[in-house]
Amino acid sequence: MELFNLKDNTDTASFAQAVKKGLGKNQGLYFPQQFSSFDNIDEILSMPFVERSVEILTRLIGDEMDKEDVKSIVEKAFIFGAPLVEVKDNVYSLELYHGPTLAFKDFGGRFMAQVLSVIAKGQPITILTATSGDTGAAVAHAFHGIDNINVVILYPKGKISVLQEKLFTTLGDNIHTVAIEDDFDACQQLVKSAFDDPEVREGLHLNSANSINISRLLAQVCYYFEAISQLEADKRDNVVVSVPSGNFGNLTAGMIAKVMGLPIKKFVAATNSNDTVPRYLKTGQWEPSTTVATLSNAMDVSQPNNWPRIEALIEQGFIDKKLLVGDAVDEEYTQVAMKQLAQLGYISEPHAAIAFKSLMRFMEEGDTGIFLGTAHPAKFRESVENVLGQPISLPQPLADCAGKEILSAELPSDYKALKAHLFATLKG
Ligand SMILES: *Cc1c(COP(=O)(O)O)cnc(C)c1O
Repeated sequence: MELFNLKDNTDTASFAQAVKKGLGKNQGLYFPQQFSSFDNIDEILSMPFVERSVEILTRLIGDEMDKEDVKSIVEKAFIFGAPLVEVKDNVYSLELYHGPTLAFKDFGGRFMAQVLSVIAKGQPITILTATSGDTGAAVAHAFHGIDNINVVILYPKGKISVLQEKLFTTLGDNIHTVAIEDDFDACQQLVKSAFDDPEVREGLHLNSANSINISRLLAQVCYYFEAISQLEADKRDNVVVSVPSGNFGNLTAGMIAKVMGLPIKKFVAATNSNDTVPRYLKTGQWEPSTTVATLSNAMDVSQPNNWPRIEALIEQGFIDKKLLVGDAVDEEYTQVAMKQLAQLGYISEPHAAIAFKSLMRFMEEGDTGIFLGTAHPAKFRESVENVLGQPISLPQPLADCAGKEILSAELPSDYKALKAHLFATLKG
């Protein structure tokens, strides 16, 4: 696989290089030079999930990685399914939250972890990242128990729910968590200082494993195929997919699936009130406003970092711009949608509800609609219980960690203290 930097097309990388580096020069995103599409889609769709995913990923990665390696990576990463559940006539939820941290980020996170462990060839790596909750959990579980890779996760002390905290701070082994006595921005600043410090960056072989890593996107392409494969053949012609979007990685992956030949008629980019993209699609003006806090807080993003990849897919003619519509759902309609789904007998959380609402606004007669369920309702238990007025139970992974001890260190928001802690923990 050959990739180039969207900010400087002379900066090219192989798949392995792009995975290790994350971002290219000037913080540019890596993007594939070309895509290859399947001419035997029906055959591909008839395969089981893991086997099909190996086909898709070897297509994307190319001969740079042995199929056997891809197979062993996929078998370790995709240990849970993505069921398509009918919520009403011709409307389906693609449930992406049956992994260990109950959100779709498990797919990308686990795949990236396994890829890194293969391409590092036994060299030690330290993953250093900051989290405001969800990504940290996905990263921690994805890398837990992988040889030669240590993970350090910083998070703002007291600013995330205890259950969220327990999901990634109770694992131990190669997963090191640090509660910082400050906010999320301060955590991000500390991570940045570490990457800017050659002694730490080189001494500990830092890698960011962040959400713009190309490997995550490739993994996510696979569940779009899995969605369509679960539809009866006569429903595959007019499929509209609604994607609840924050940084737009998920939508990018869906579009790549389409470029590879997956039959999707239209994409709906659904956002909350942080609606930079829906406004842009209407007016042509890119005008991010100040980010506002919403019930669907994993989408509280006003400068989506994967958007340049979507622009590239459109500008380079891989995707017709007309296939994409944008829609913003405010707080009131988010709650309305959750209640509508509950009336249909389907319990959802705010992100999926937004995707459902937008889907309803854009589906036409004869369409089959799919909205992505990006998180388990229990992950947003408080909002769900408040809006629906009914208790929801904890699924196994959350129940399991609820009784475990938090193993985090606590540090002030001070780079020297963090640096000393890193060397003591990882080199000691
Ligand atoms: C991260 C996240 C999103 C947004 O996905 P992007 O790829 O950033 O657009 C939506 N829902 C949930 C629950 C998430 O955690």
